[in-house]
Amino acid sequence: MQDYIMEIKNLKKYFKLKENIFSKAKYVRAVDDVTFSVPRGSTYAVVGESGSGKTTLGRTILRLIDASAGEIIMDNKNVLDLSKKEFMEYRRKMQMVFQDPYNSLHPKKLVKTIIGEGMKIHFKGIKETEIRKRIAEVLNEVGLREEHMFRYPHEFSGGQRQRIAFARAIILNPNFIVLDEPTSALDVSVQAMVLKMLKDIKKREDLSYLFITHDLSVVDYLADHVAVMYLGEIVEKGPKSKVFNNPAHPYTELLLNSNPIPDPFTDRERIEVKGEVPNPINPPSGCRFHTRCRYAENICSEKKPEEEIVSEEHTNRCHFSLV
Ligand code: SF4
Repeated sequence: MQDYIMEIKNLKKYFKLKENIFSKAKYVRAVDDVTFSVPRGSTYAVVGESGSGKTTLGRTILRLIDASAGEIIMDNKNVLDLSKKEFMEYRRKMQMVFQDPYNSLHPKKLVKTIIGEGMKIHFKGIKETEIRKRIAEVLNEVGLREEHMFRYPHEFSGGQRQRIAFARAIILNPNFIVLDEPTSALDVSVQAMVLKMLKDIKKREDLSYLFITHDLSVVDYLADHVAVMYLGEIVEKGPKSKVFNNPAHPYTELLLNSNPIPDPFTDRERIEVKGEVPNPINPPSGCRFHTRCRYAENICSEKKPEEEIVSEEHTNRCHFSLV
């Protein structure tokens, strides 16, 4: 039987908009009834365009923002039901690395303070010498040196800052890390090195990742499983090889088609994209993708497609599955 580090069930995050005396309350359904499970030791990628809800999903899972409904099961407990005190232990196990290494590190704090402050919170009474020893270990693990702990973030390049952010995440020995576009602000050559570091540490420390990105090349390199999000919903999910080799949903097909091919001598037919991403306050009826889908028929705007099994672990939501 598959061992999951985390199971997300029917998770919702709605943001209420300012009410007006002339109209009913309106909501942005940023995450709408999302269900998936992350196998232990795997990298689970969540992909989609900006505005798909993937960053909100990551933040809701870590309880950085409150969920509107649903369950997040870890160690047979729903982490959404835990009290603040009970959640502290889970917070240690679940860490996050943010997209922007320039804003996510406090500019006036030494690296040792940035990396070590989590230890002071989670291990009350721990000796300064022990914290220093552990900081030196994690700096080494992310490819930096012990003496770097006495410098400030501005003394580092973007790639090194992201290594510091990662050191801060792993110092508490977590087993699950949400990585929100961790390489998108970096130069391509630096991206490759940071991605390799993430892959190596994951293997060494037996970590599981939830990897949020719009970049399918990164998913191809790092992920084992992938979920495709569109306007707050997961439209297709499954093992990466199945989703990438046999995309069943027209939106997945479109994303894969727009991903650049590294070989200049390989040509492929471009799929024309219709229209803009609709307003999430008032998403299209039926299938939310119908306003942009080249296969859309009348039923698509009338009836929401159910999730259907394509093959083992591979599911899709479309009235006219491509597979
Ligand atoms: Fe396109 Fe219809 Fe499938 Fe939606 S349900 S993706 S509109 S074919």
